[in-house]
Amino acid sequence: MIIILKSDATPQEQEQLITQIESAGLQAHLSEGTFRTILGIIGDESLVDADQLRAAPGVADVVPVLPPYKLASRDAHPQSSIVDVAGVKFGGGHLAFIAGPCAVEEPERMASIAKSVKAAGAHILRGGAYKPRTSPYSYQGQGLEGLKLLRAIGDEFGLPVVSEVTDPRNVDQLVEYVDMLQIGARNMQNFVLLTEVGQTKTPVLMKRGMSATLTDLLMCAEYVLSQGNPNVVLCERGIKSFDSSTRNLYDVAAVPAIQQLSHLPIIVDPSHATGRPELIPPCALAGIAAGADGVHIEVHDKPSEAMSDGPQALLPEQYAELAEQMRQLASLLNKQVPVTEGVS
Ligand code: PEP
Ligand code: MN
Repeated sequence: MIIILKSDATPQEQEQLITQIESAGLQAHLSEGTFRTILGIIGDESLVDADQLRAAPGVADVVPVLPPYKLASRDAHPQSSIVDVAGVKFGGGHLAFIAGPCAVEEPERMASIAKSVKAAGAHILRGGAYKPRTSPYSYQGQGLEGLKLLRAIGDEFGLPVVSEVTDPRNVDQLVEYVDMLQIGARNMQNFVLLTEVGQTKTPVLMKRGMSATLTDLLMCAEYVLSQGNPNVVLCERGIKSFDSSTRNLYDVAAVPAIQQLSHLPIIVDPSHATGRPELIPPCALAGIAAGADGVHIEVHDKPSEAMSDGPQALLPEQYAELAEQMRQLASLLNKQVPVTEGVS
C-alpha cells in the first residue's frame, strides 16, 4: 500500500502516520520527492484500513498495491483453478456446456429437452425452480417440486444439474438436489446468500450482476471463497446498456480480463446477454474464442410455450449445430471438451 502525502503535510503528521503503521506491526518506507512525499507500507496490508488512512491528516491518497479480492486474485493463486461439478470440469483448459430451459418445465417437456441437449453433447442440465423475476406477477417457478423433477431428469439422462438459489433459507434444500448452485445476476450482491452458499461445498455458478464491474464480481466471489467454498465458476451474462438492440450488452472482453485478474473459471451466457436466438451462436463462439471455460445456453423445444424466457431459447436442433461448432473451435484452441454418448 502506498500513502501519498499532501504537499503541505507537516513533519508531525508524517511522524504520526509512521507510528500508526509501525504499531500495526508493519514497516514504513519514506520516499521524499521534489514535490511530493510518499510512504510505502511493507508487510501484510490487510492489517491497516485504507479508508482510515485516507481520512488521516496530511494524507492526499492511499493506493492499495494488491487487489481487495485476495483469495480470488491470480496474485494469490497463479495457476488457473479447475472446478469439478460432479465430474464435469471447468477451467485450466477444460470447457463444459450447460444447457436447458430457463425454468423447470413439466416432466415430459423436461425429459424431451434433456434428451436432446444430452444428444447434442451438453454436460450439465439447467432449469430454474425458483425464478427471480423482475415482475412479481411473472411466473415464479415450481419451487421444491421443480428441484425434485430437475434431479430426477438429470439422473435419468446422466446429466449433473444446476439451478438458481434465490433465498438463503433455501440453500440447504437446493444442496440436496443440485450439483451446482446458481447465483443469479439479480442476487450477485446478496451478501447473506453468498455467505450461506460459501458455507457449503457445492460448486457455485456466479453470474455477473447487470451493473457490476469486474471488481464487484470478484468481490462477490471472494465472499464465497472466504467462507471456505473454493468452487466458484464466474459467468458473463451481459450488463445494462443504453442500447435496446440486445437484451443486455455482451461484454466478451470480460472473459480475458477476468482471466488476467483471477484464477477462477469464467463461462459465458450468450442467451441472457443477447436475448436473441439468432445472435446466440456467434456470441457463444466469440466467448470460446475469447477463452471462456464454458458456455451456458437456454434451450427449449417449444419456445412459444416456455414458462420463462421463451423468446431467447434455441431449438434443440439449433443447439446441436452450435454444440458441434463449439467443439470444433475448442479443439482448435486445444481445450478439452468431454465427449458424451451420442457425440462422435
Ligand atoms: C437464468 O439463468 O435464467 C437467469 C435468470 O439468469 P440471470 O440471473 O443471468 O438473469
Ligand atoms: Mn432465463
